Amino acid sequence: MIEVVLNSRCVRKLKRELAAAGPREIGGVLAAEQTADGRFLVLDLSVQRDGTTSSFQRDPAQHRAFIEEFHEKRGHQPQRFNYLGEWHSHPSFSATPSPEDFAQMQSLVEEDDQKSTFLVLLVVKLGLDGKLRGSVHGFRPGQQPVRGRLTSVDEGAVEEEQAPVILILITAKEDHEAD
Ligand SMILES: [Zn+2]
Repeated sequence: MIEVVLNSRCVRKLKRELAAAGPREIGGVLAAEQTADGRFLVLDLSVQRDGTTSSFQRDPAQHRAFIEEFHEKRGHQPQRFNYLGEWHSHPSFSATPSPEDFAQMQSLVEEDDQKSTFLVLLVVKLGLDGKLRGSVHGFRPGQQPVRGRLTSVDEGAVEEEQAPVILILITAKEDHEAD
């Protein structure tokens, strides 16, 4: 199980940026500290604001510069402080990855020049109540993505977006047969 924890600054930044972007999708990269096995504290994130209402195209050059600066600030300790993965918003639909998002992240982690053997995708949105909602998934080469836990340093500042619900109908017939 992986856990991705947002610090207060990232929660504030995401809420501010999501509110300003309105119906447009925005995104960027996550810079994190590994605090335990499978546990990552997101310390900072980059923001690219040129998405449309239905898609977001990442600009790798922009984000590379951000991660280089992060390494600089944290004294080049990539085992502990590193690029964790990507984030983007779904203002108009569920804050869980689309089939295209899953495919894109999987190909990113499979890339030959990709130094990370593990990447996270964070999808976020503002709920109707103004709260931050989202989901995290972990990706590894040659493996199925797994959903992780999304939390924040400030309790209750982020809510898990529910996965689509599968309804199981218990029919009256089954009840009758059990008698
Ligand atoms: Zn998406």
